[in-house]
Amino acid sequence: MRSKQEYMEKAEELIYKTYNRFPVVFDHGDGVFLYDTDGKEYLDFAAGIAVMGLGYHDKEFDDALKSQVEKLLHTSNLFYNVPAVEAGELILKASDMDKVFFTNSGTEAIEGALKIARRYAYNKDKSHDHEIIAMNHSFHGRSLGALSVTGNDHYQEPFKPLIPGIRFAEYNDLDSVKALMNDRTCAVIMETIQGEGGIYPATEEFLKGVRKLCDEHDALLILDEIQCGMGRTGTMFAWQKYGVKPDVMTAAKALGNGVPIGAFLAHGKAATAMSPGDHGTTYGGNPFVTAAAAKVLELFEKRKIVDHVKEVGDYLWEQTEALSQKYKIITAHRGLGLIQGLELSVPAAPLVKDALLNERLVIISAGANVIRFVPPLIISREHVDAMLIKLETVLKKHS
Ligand SMILES: *Cc1c(COP(=O)(O)O)cnc(C)c1O
Repeated sequence: MRSKQEYMEKAEELIYKTYNRFPVVFDHGDGVFLYDTDGKEYLDFAAGIAVMGLGYHDKEFDDALKSQVEKLLHTSNLFYNVPAVEAGELILKASDMDKVFFTNSGTEAIEGALKIARRYAYNKDKSHDHEIIAMNHSFHGRSLGALSVTGNDHYQEPFKPLIPGIRFAEYNDLDSVKALMNDRTCAVIMETIQGEGGIYPATEEFLKGVRKLCDEHDALLILDEIQCGMGRTGTMFAWQKYGVKPDVMTAAKALGNGVPIGAFLAHGKAATAMSPGDHGTTYGGNPFVTAAAAKVLELFEKRKIVDHVKEVGDYLWEQTEALSQKYKIITAHRGLGLIQGLELSVPAAPLVKDALLNERLVIISAGANVIRFVPPLIISREHVDAMLIKLETVLKKHS
C-alpha cells in the first residue's frame, strides 16, 4: 500500500484538477465516523455533502446492495426491472407525486425538470421563447442546463453562452419574482432551502406567494430538494413543512446513501408533459441503484428517521444557538432539522480545515463564510455534544 502522501501526489498527477482537496485520504467508514489510511478516526458532520443519511456501513443497507450485486446490475430502460418498481412506489408515496424518473445524479434530475417545463409550455403554443425564473445565490448543478439556472457568476462566467430565457430573481423577495413573471414564464425553479448559497430556508410567505404566481400564469413550480430533501429537515421533503406542493421536484444526494442516483418527480399536469422519446438515460434507474434507493426509503420508514431528525435537529439547534451567543465571530444561525449553518464574520475555510486536521471533525463550508452542518441523519445527542467540543476549540482559536 502507498503512503497517504503518495496517494495525494498520484491523485494530483492523474485526476483533472477541478477541486482543491483537503489533505486527507479516507479509507473506510462506520456509522458517523470516518477513518483515514493511517487509521485515524474522524467524527463526520458532512456526510459526503448530505449524502450518507444512514451513515457508513449500515448492515441492512449493505446486505441489500450485496444481494442485488449477485442478482442483476443493469439491463437498460428498454426493459422493466423489479427494484425500479419498488423504489418508484416508495418515493411516490413519500412525496405524494404522480410520476418519477430516475437519473444518475442531482444535476441530471435538474435537466429533466427543466425539460418538463419547456415541454409543458411548448405543448401549449409550439413556441420557443419561454422563460424560466431562477434565484440568485442558488445552486442546481454543473451540467450546462443546471448551470444556467445556478445564480452564481463565478460558476457561470467561463461557460457562457448558457441556455437562453433564464431570468434571476432574489430569493425570499416575492416582488422580485412578480416583476419577472409574464405570459412567457414557463417555470420558477428554486431550492426549498438554499444549500450551497449559505443555508437560507425559504420563508413561508415567499414559497406560498411563488406558488400563487405560478398558478396565475400556468407556470410550473420546480422545487430542488436534492440537498434539503430525504428527511433532512424533519419532514421527508422540505416543502411538506410549508404545505406548498411543487409541480416538479428533484431529489438525489441522500436518496442512494452513497450509490449514485437522483430523481425528478412530477405531479398533476406536469406528470404527462413528456412522451416516449422525449427523455432517456442508459444507466438511470438500473436495478442496482434502485435497489439502493428502495432500501433507503424502506429503512427511513422502518426506523422512523424523520422523527429522529426532528428530535436531534432541535437539539443541534439549541446547542449551536448557545454557541453563537458566546462567540462574536458567529453572526447568524440558520436552517432547520439537520441542515444548519453558522455564518461567520471571517472566512469559513480555515476553520473547516483546522477542525478536520486538528480536531478530526469533518465539517464543510457553504459559500465563503458559512459553516454547514449536514451530518448523517442517524447522529445522536452524544455526537452533537462531541462535535460542539471540537468546534468550540476551533472557534476559540480563530476568535
Ligand atoms: C448537490 C446539489 C445539486 C447537484 O447534484 P449533483 O449530484 O452534484 O449533480 C443540485 N441541487 C442542489 C440543491 C444540490 O445541493
